[in-house]
Amino acid sequence: MSRLPKTASVVIIGGGVMGASTVYHLASRGYKDVLLLEREKFFGTGATGRCAGGIRYQFNTEVNIRLSQKSLPMIDAFEEETGQSVLVQKCGYLFALTREKDVEVFRKTVELQRSLGVQTEWLTGEEVRNIAAPCDFPDALAGSFNAEDGLADPNSIVMGYINAARRHGAVCITDCSAIGIDVKNNQIWKVQTSLGTIETKTVVNACGPWSASLGKEISLEIPVFPLRRQWFVTEAIQELPEDFPFVIDFAQSLYFHREGSGLLTGMSNPNEKIGDDQRIDSEWELKHIESAIQRMPLLGNSGIQARQAGLYEMTPDAHPIIGPTPVEGFYLLSGFSGHGFMQGPICGKLMAEILIDGEATTVDISKLDYNRFAEKRLIPEYNVV
Ligand SMILES: Cc1cc2nc3c(=O)[nH]c(=O)nc-3n(C[C@H](O)[C@H](O)[C@H](O)COP(=O)(O)OP(=O)(O)OC[C@H]3O[C@@H](n4cnc5c(N)ncnc54)[C@H](O)[C@@H]3O)c2cc1C
Repeated sequence: MSRLPKTASVVIIGGGVMGASTVYHLASRGYKDVLLLEREKFFGTGATGRCAGGIRYQFNTEVNIRLSQKSLPMIDAFEEETGQSVLVQKCGYLFALTREKDVEVFRKTVELQRSLGVQTEWLTGEEVRNIAAPCDFPDALAGSFNAEDGLADPNSIVMGYINAARRHGAVCITDCSAIGIDVKNNQIWKVQTSLGTIETKTVVNACGPWSASLGKEISLEIPVFPLRRQWFVTEAIQELPEDFPFVIDFAQSLYFHREGSGLLTGMSNPNEKIGDDQRIDSEWELKHIESAIQRMPLLGNSGIQARQAGLYEMTPDAHPIIGPTPVEGFYLLSGFSGHGFMQGPICGKLMAEILIDGEATTVDISKLDYNRFAEKRLIPEYNVV
């Protein structure tokens, strides 16, 4: 394990996809003395390691679409850039719509995506039934499909960035909790950790679902709250077509995609309470199994091979907070609300631009500022699964 340095130009707290991408993008631009801290034994065991691996262009707001337009090509080029393969599968995402109100919103969303250069297709109910088979959608009214959406491996992205950052001289440490932050004259001064104290003027809070807890250390309210989500993977299903896409029954927040020779399925509990419980909710799992079998009857013949629960890091408008806060030197990179894995590559790069160049230039993220909540400038995202 690396020794904890006594000083650092930047301390990034949280070794999920956001922290890993930020440390890599700072170090690869020659930024010196960058330090990444992760409290667990391994990097990427928080939300990132529990995520479903989906990557998509299909969002409902311009800023999220533009983030995907930069981030997904970075995932495609990841191996070339870092030497780490990330198992990209372009299986496509199909949003199946069964409610008139969703059809109305998605029709406009697809128009917005196409106006920005994203080639999402609009589908009839019949086309949804054909593409989604063996899922059963007698009630599908319409849908949207993008063949460039798909899957990638979260742990490969985290470790690819961390190994590459280390080669550029960054120090990345596990088993080290940030337990306090000292502020002098409203400016970051020191980070207290379980392994000792570090002097620094700059901290990036990349603590994912636990970001608000870190904010409390400096009495800063951070509107990011943890919300449990879960999925399971079935045993092998022979009848599953090789080209089965990532299928989303939008009205039920129920999704399916191939995972090896089995199927991964998740369903969001609309009544889940804010909290950081990461145990499987067995009662909800039963409801999920019922709904999943209804949509894909052949699931009834298959057992569960693995299950996972984790935390979304939600904000009130389901968009992240990226940038400075009222405490000088304290930056936020958090609140990705269920779609942070795919946005990790670009958002770490944008954070590096903010710290090195003074502003993010690759994508205009001025609307994703900390003050938007107090100033009531929320920008709701509809395509949250
Ligand atoms: C079930 C599920 C399915 C998902 N599916 C998808 C998907 O298909 N596609 C997608 O794009 N996104 C998905 N997401 C969302 C995605 O996983 C998150 O948005 C993203 O991983 C957030 O990354 P992060 O680095 O901000 O947080 P995390 O990965 O949680 O990293 C934060 C890290 O900070 C560490 N930490 C916290 N406090 C401290 C401290 N005081 N000191 C040191 N370390 C600390 C934690 O241990 C953790 O490792 C899913 C999430 C879940 C839970």
